[in-house]
This record gives sequence, structure tokens and C-alpha cells, in this order.
Amino acid sequence: MAKKQTSALFHKEGVSQQETTSKSSAKIIKSNRSKIPSIKKFVTEILAGNISYLSRAITLIESTNEKHQEKANTILEQCLPFANKSIRIGITGVPGVGKSTFIEAFGKQLTSNHKKVAVLAVDPSSSINKGSILGDKTRMEELVNDKNAFIRPSPSGSSLGGVAQKTRESIILCEAAGFDTIIIETVGVGQSETMVHSMVDFFLLLKIAGAGDELQGIKRGIIEMADAIVINKSDGENIRNAHIAKVEFSRALHLYPPKESGWQPKVLTASAIENIGIGAVSEMIDQYISLAKEQGFFSAKRNNQNTFWLQTTIQQNLHDSFFKNKYISVALQQEIELLKSGKTTPFNAAKKLLKSYNEQT
Ligand code: GDP
Repeated sequence: MAKKQTSALFHKEGVSQQETTSKSSAKIIKSNRSKIPSIKKFVTEILAGNISYLSRAITLIESTNEKHQEKANTILEQCLPFANKSIRIGITGVPGVGKSTFIEAFGKQLTSNHKKVAVLAVDPSSSINKGSILGDKTRMEELVNDKNAFIRPSPSGSSLGGVAQKTRESIILCEAAGFDTIIIETVGVGQSETMVHSMVDFFLLLKIAGAGDELQGIKRGIIEMADAIVINKSDGENIRNAHIAKVEFSRALHLYPPKESGWQPKVLTASAIENIGIGAVSEMIDQYISLAKEQGFFSAKRNNQNTFWLQTTIQQNLHDSFFKNKYISVALQQEIELLKSGKTTPFNAAKKLLKSYNEQT
């Protein structure tokens, strides 16, 4: 794991340690940290809501070390019966739309209503851009210091599939640790919304007024996935434009076929910075969850999502196993050479390689 991320990870614990411990006791904590506790200890502490152990277990999930992954898998299995009890909310929008500010206001609203909120991120670009969302946690200063909130930056990873899987596993651990609302933040570019949409109960799209869709980089598909659109920055001189945008988006949303759940996606306006309209967003999500639960859609959707993740995980593992195979990597190069000289076709080469792979495994 990147140094930057590890330090961000312990940022929250680090603040209180600095306040309460001397240099020598900090050293003891550091040396204890290097030893990985037993699975039993992990599970007991996570179920007791110990955030430090939750953080460390997520670090194991994110590790590329096989032993860490094995341990993480057993912890996950043992935590699973205690998971599944939260509401999972996906929040997307292009950079600058106000996601961090909104999550801070929304998260505080929830914690003031005695909820426990975990904020996770899916940002496949973070390993390239060194953490573009949630990496800089000072953007959610108040929520970071709220004892009922847990904030975790995006795991670094080479593929979106890998990053998304780690996030999904982290959701399970957060739920087992007693977090009843899980917010997954993602950037409104690329394929990450589709992944996030497939792991949440409610998908919220943040927009601002006055910018065309091309400018906001939002694809039609994302609007289709949204259970609600919130026009943020509805304050000062922007209020009028925000209301115009609200009417336009409501009209546009009516053109889409109704959702399977029967829910008609809503458009609301809010000002994250002035904390206006945040309560209404929270009420709307509660309304949706009640409706979805009443109709049995809530659990049906989660079951479908689980099936999707089973298939995705198999695909990912098969892909990795194939391309990491030493014999295949040599044979693949040979087939590429044959392909270049016109001595084989892509289909024959693939067939031959898959046959050799199957014979080996
Ligand atoms: P993100 O990149 O989507 O996470 O956006 P940020 O939360 O970092 O916000 C980007 C900028 O917009 C910051 O300068 C915020 O202060 C500002 N901002 C966020 N929400 C609002 C809002 O409701 N009203 C106004 N006027 N500015 C906002």
C-alpha cells in the first residue's frame, strides 16, 4: 500500500494519539501495529465497533500479499452474518460539483440523528492521480472528527474491478462494525458509477445548474441509473438557475421508463455549503427505502447485486489467473509474433492458449 494512503488511513486515530500519548507510548503502539492480530481478535474487535481494527482489516483486504488476503477472507466470512443491515448510498458527480462538501453536511445530519456513517470511495484514478477523492480528508474536517463517522479513501489498484471488489468487501466489514449508513463516493467520469451502482441501494447524482451535460461530463447512462438528482450550490445568485435546472431535469427524468421498483426518481435542490436542503435529501432516501422494502424490491435488488458480484469475481479471478500464468505469458508473446507475421488468427491463437491453460490447471 502506498505510504500516502497508509498515513491518511491512520490520520483519524493519529489525532487522538498525539493528544493523549507520549513519544514512548507511541513507539509501543507502533511496534504493536507491526504484529498482525489473530483472526478471532479482529472479528471480536470489529463486532465491538473498534474503528482501529476495522481500519486494519480493510488494510488486509487491500493488501496484495497472499497471506494477508487469506486472513482478510476469513475475517470477512466471520463478519458476514453480522453485515447486510445498513443502507448503502452511492454518490457521484464530476469533480468540483461539491461531493465532499455534500457528504460532510449529509453525514453530519445523519450522525446528529444517532446514525453511524461510513464513507468509502471508489476512484480507480486515485492510484494515478495520487488520491483525487477522499485522499485529502481535510475536505471533510468535521466528519473526520465525528466519533460516529468512519472515512476511508479509495484503495489503490490497477483495475476498476479490483478497486470495486475491495470496496464491496470493506462495506461488509463496516456493517459488521455497526455502521448503519454506508456512503460510497465516486467520480462522475469513466465506468466507476456502474460499479458503484451495483453495490448500493440508492444512487444519487449531484449536479450544478448552468452547465450543459457535455460540460459536466455526465453520460446519459448515469442519469438513467440515478434514483435522485440533487442540484447542488443552490445558494446566492445561483438559486434561480438551480430551480430552472430542477424543472428541466424533472422533465427529462419523466422521459425514462419507470424503475422496476415503481420509484419515480426525484430532483431536489440543495446548498451543501449552507446546509440547506440536506434534511430533505435524507427524508427522500428514507421514503425510497420504505417503499423498496414494502415491495420486496430492496432484498431482491441486493440478491441480484450478489449474483452480479459472484460472476464478476469469477471473471476477474479467471482473468488474473490466466494472465499471471508463467507458461501463458511466454506462449502469448509467441502467438502475438505469429499473429504479426500472419501465421495465425486472433481466434486460433486464443483457442490454442486457452486449451494449454486448461490442460495446466
Ligand atoms: P468535489 O470535487 O465534488 O468533492 O467538490 P468539493 O466538495 O471539493 O467542492 C468544490 C468547490 O465547490 C469547493 O470550493 C466548495 O467550497 C464549493 N462548494 C461545494 N458545495 C457548495 C455549495 O453548496 N455552494 C457553493 N456556493 N459552493 C459549494
